[in-house]
Amino acid sequence: MQTLSAEQRRFFEQAATTYRADLAADTAAQGYLTSRGLGGALDTFRLGVVRRPLVGHEQYQGRLAIPYLTPAGVVNMRFRCLQPHDCKAVDCPKYLSADGAGTNLYNVLDLKKDSPFIVVCEGEIDAMSFSLAGIPAVGVPGVDAWQKHFARCLEDFEVIYSAGDGDKAGSKFNSLLSREVKARPLRFPRGMDANALYVKEGAGGLRRLIEG
Ligand SMILES: [Zn+2]
Repeated sequence: MQTLSAEQRRFFEQAATTYRADLAADTAAQGYLTSRGLGGALDTFRLGVVRRPLVGHEQYQGRLAIPYLTPAGVVNMRFRCLQPHDCKAVDCPKYLSADGAGTNLYNVLDLKKDSPFIVVCEGEIDAMSFSLAGIPAVGVPGVDAWQKHFARCLEDFEVIYSAGDGDKAGSKFNSLLSREVKARPLRFPRGMDANALYVKEGAGGLRRLIEG
């Protein structure tokens, strides 16, 4: 596991604070987050938008900033496109990682929650959705981002669920998690991911996946 220098930590901390303030002044970005069911969670996850990029963050201008929060502060950050287009169709990277940063598990604060189970999601927004529904969840930023040491973070849980999307990448994600940590795949209604289900049916929709 990589450790960050005090200077890197301060930088991520300052970035999170700056972009959170930028979001507070940006009703369009707030509207987008509200449409994804995250309007009440801006402070919980310290979400931001890049309007005044810190030096070295110019290429993230206009993107949603998702800080990786840990008990020791902010250790990483990813940036999601907020343009109203289909990123794939216009060859736009939907997510960008912070230059030079490693790969972390997202939402590790949920590892401390008192629960016999945890959900491992494909992506940050799905992890936020489960967490807001009262179901502890962490996120892996894509199937290729899995790191062997993530398994150690999960070993205290009796049951691990994987929440890959209902597409090819999602089933690859579920297979990987099944192999690495014996995760049980959650079955989403056709065409839905955790966030879509949360927006449509609220916390109950996600809870039923676990109980069913
Ligand atoms: Zn885009």
